[in-house]
Amino acid sequence: MRTPVIAGNWKMNTTPHTAADLARSVAERTSGLLGVTKVVCPPNVCIPAVKAALHGTDVEVGAQNVHSEPTGAFTGEISVGMLTELATHVIVGHSERRSLFGETNTGVARKAAAAAAGGLKPILCIGESLDIRRTGEAETFCKAQLRESLEGYSAWDSLIIAYEPVWAIGSGEAASPMIAQVMASAIRDEISDIAGQAAAERVPVLYGGSVNPQNAGPFMDRPDIDGALVGGASLDAEAFSAIVQITAGPISP
Ligand code: PEP
Repeated sequence: MRTPVIAGNWKMNTTPHTAADLARSVAERTSGLLGVTKVVCPPNVCIPAVKAALHGTDVEVGAQNVHSEPTGAFTGEISVGMLTELATHVIVGHSERRSLFGETNTGVARKAAAAAAGGLKPILCIGESLDIRRTGEAETFCKAQLRESLEGYSAWDSLIIAYEPVWAIGSGEAASPMIAQVMASAIRDEISDIAGQAAAERVPVLYGGSVNPQNAGPFMDRPDIDGALVGGASLDAEAFSAIVQITAGPISP
């Protein structure tokens, strides 16, 4: 049985002060919503303030990126060891990192493996561009991207995959729940091929791309979709908490 995950990617938004306020508001609004792992991923400089604000709550903290090396001459980067006191999760291979900062599958694989080895749960993002979807090769592309981004990976119990079609991120045009389900199932098949059926059954597969409280429900009803990676809507505590609520289902009396 997989526990659903709702993770918020705050991207390059908030300051330490506003991030702490947002985190507190999410924690207040989602307290008592059980059976969902709730994660917020603030910018690095905001993580200590968010960690402090969330002390004693069940909302976890993630980073948006990490370097694969433990220490060294990597100006501007942060390591897994720097994060483990502050965070439980880290996003790796987000499409903005891939398209704007030149991240490759090989580099993403190193980050995922380093994160897991250091005790962080990687939220590994994959997804096709609109051009690739139009060629009808989306599934082949995503499977290859997944396989290459998992080269050398072995910590299957800590892995989370986020299927985020590039054309759906920040566009207001979410994929249909059927497209997301077909890809989530293909992702699970690929993990089964790499690591066996038992591993594939344990890895949560999230959908990401313009998720909001209005469209979240039908994604969560699909058998292979185990939650969402939420960008824009995660900056609004009410909207993010509503997505958590939809995923948790009705509160028992
Ligand atoms: C994201 O950045 O991972 C994302 C899914 O963004 P949005 O929800 O805004 O499409």
